[in-house]
Amino acid sequence: MPKLRLRIEDVWTYYGPIPALRGISLEVDEGEIVAVLGPNGAGKTTLLRTISGLIRPKRGAISLGDQRIDRLNPAQIVRLGVMQVPEGRQLFPELTVAENLKLGAYTRRESRAAIQHDLERVFRLFPTLKERLEQLAGTLSGGEQQMLAVARGLMARPRLLLLDEPSLGLAPTLVTQLFRAIEELNREGLTVLLAEQNARQALRIAHRGYVLELGRVVLQGSAAELQRDKRVRERYLGVQSSAAQGQGKGGGSGELGA
Ligand code: ATP
Repeated sequence: MPKLRLRIEDVWTYYGPIPALRGISLEVDEGEIVAVLGPNGAGKTTLLRTISGLIRPKRGAISLGDQRIDRLNPAQIVRLGVMQVPEGRQLFPELTVAENLKLGAYTRRESRAAIQHDLERVFRLFPTLKERLEQLAGTLSGGEQQMLAVARGLMARPRLLLLDEPSLGLAPTLVTQLFRAIEELNREGLTVLLAEQNARQALRIAHRGYVLELGRVVLQGSAAELQRDKRVRERYLGVQSSAAQGQGKGGGSGELGA
């Protein structure tokens, strides 16, 4: 199989006349967890929706390996192994957990046994789902719904998983559990692009990260570099400037030697 490498070059995406992405360039290499951080409205969701083909960029290029994907439709992009788990979960609330999971595998033509094998895998990662197979998805707790949304995404056997704010509204213990599952999946070979406002947790599991503000990449670097950066510490990790002083490098240079 060709090497999976997502490459975004100078992408501009608009809502009507207003640009939400203003010349974003970013890369995700096979085997990486890459975090996209940034405040509300920075453009994280728009970025993921642009990659998935749900919105078309006006300018720029998106490629997967040596194939351009920015003119493909969402179904074609899913078939290339790119799966987005949307913010707000978007489950089928009137269907059971089991039915939601089966729908996640709808693009696949493999045998029942292969799908069963993957179900067992998601149950290992998220044991609570196994206990709730017949429960209606709409009656799950927020955290359980988030687990189900990720599990459903995994049932399509993606090579690249796009996660939009998976920690949103989750209790801290569930965030830890979910991020552990993401790390484990990554160790098994899954490549992950993770949009998060929870910078602390995201940088704990990510290899690299980008900070978006107003549709632009304002900082990028390894997770360790970003954790040390003065601006990231103050704005995204809630560290007081006195504590951060002298520890950051760059702090406004916009580039951390990525
Ligand atoms: P959040 O964490 O709040 O979801 P975000 O970083 O994901 O923020 P986006 O949802 O991508 O940000 O929004 C980027 C910008 O685009 C915002 O200014 C937002 O108001 C605008 N925007 C998003 N969706 C639409 C839409 N459907 N129509 C018009 N403007 C939109």
